[in-house]
Amino acid sequence: MLKQGVNKFFDSALQQLHEASQTLELDSGIVEFLKTPKRMVIVSVPVKRDNGEFNVFMGYRVQHNNARGPYKGGIRYHPEVTLEEVTALAMLMTWKCAVVDLPYGGAKGGVACNPKEMSREELEKLTRRYTSMIAEVIGPLVDIPAPDVYTDEQTMAWIMDTYSQLKGYQIPEVVTGKPVSVGGSYGRREATSRGVAITTREIARHLNIPLNRSRIAIQGYGNVGYYAAKILHEWGARIVAVSDSKGGILDERGLNPEAVMEHKKKTGSVINYNGAKTITNEELLELECDFLIPAALENQITEKNADRIKAKVIVEGANGPTTPEADKILYERKIAVVPDILSNAGGVTVSYLEWVQNLKRERWSLEEVNQKLEEKMVKAFADVVSYGKKYETNMRNAAMILAVDRVAEAVNLLGIWP
Ligand code: GLU
Repeated sequence: MLKQGVNKFFDSALQQLHEASQTLELDSGIVEFLKTPKRMVIVSVPVKRDNGEFNVFMGYRVQHNNARGPYKGGIRYHPEVTLEEVTALAMLMTWKCAVVDLPYGGAKGGVACNPKEMSREELEKLTRRYTSMIAEVIGPLVDIPAPDVYTDEQTMAWIMDTYSQLKGYQIPEVVTGKPVSVGGSYGRREATSRGVAITTREIARHLNIPLNRSRIAIQGYGNVGYYAAKILHEWGARIVAVSDSKGGILDERGLNPEAVMEHKKKTGSVINYNGAKTITNEELLELECDFLIPAALENQITEKNADRIKAKVIVEGANGPTTPEADKILYERKIAVVPDILSNAGGVTVSYLEWVQNLKRERWSLEEVNQKLEEKMVKAFADVVSYGKKYETNMRNAAMILAVDRVAEAVNLLGIWP
């Protein structure tokens, strides 16, 4: 059913797995097993629109691997969602959870829709119907969804409520990234960005770049981009440029992330912000800066623009923003890349902390959550660096080798039944 050559991102995910497996000299049967998701669910989601018409949206939940623990991963709403994309993202979740050593496997969900053109009521109906259609394959010890592109705390509250209504009692641990008042965790909202900031700080130390004098450009001003800008700004870095789907802004003196967010809330975009120069998303990626943080969608840095990237380091906030071809060019040009499965793992790490709090019926303070996140991210960063030394390779390959090694070990220990 899944075809190679249809979706670049899916092909890249397979290629990365293939390369890591070769380095680890894995048995070809295990590689075949890891290439294929354990379960792919496709559903059609009918929604009665506000104008009385019906529309049908395609929804997916792909469960890639659960050798290390229950499936885990977000749900995205985006017009370009396809089965191949969701499968690649599900695979990435398996590797990501393994890199930060969480007792989870990997999954991803998505609905092909344009949430920007839907009302709150329509989104609620879509979410509840989609949840009811995947209810038999998710569950607190089976598969735990979370937010991703264009889904948020409210979406998670609807998922929790729908699932709980179907089962007859409150089950907050079926989903993470919920609002704090219905079982969410302190610190989850900004967790992905805090993880991005921590890995930026760690790579800065590693490469002797003073973070508090560094210049940072961020592509994407959603949940990940905004909080990454805010935290890094608080840590003394200068945010010189940010962008969203409508375009970008540049101010060499440094932007105030909160003021930019207020402007975006008022006008719908970061562009035309007070005194800043308007630039395109392409220009943002090619700016001269210390750290470039792509925090939007996949396939942004490709063989077409990798030659022109002038950042010293790329820290991936999004999933899959750099293609393998671009990776090779960047490696030759000595531009360091902190890979997504390490740098944006802060989100799923605090998802895990939220889930543990739910299962134990506890509530931890923000300080406690942030401390645990800090420990996990710093440990994962050090693990990837040591794999990089051992296998004499860049951070992307090192993170993949580490992840595939951990997952393959679990698969081998469990064995293939019967
Ligand atoms: N969607 C986020 C990711 O790609 C978070 C997943 C989660 O918390 O389960 O890592």
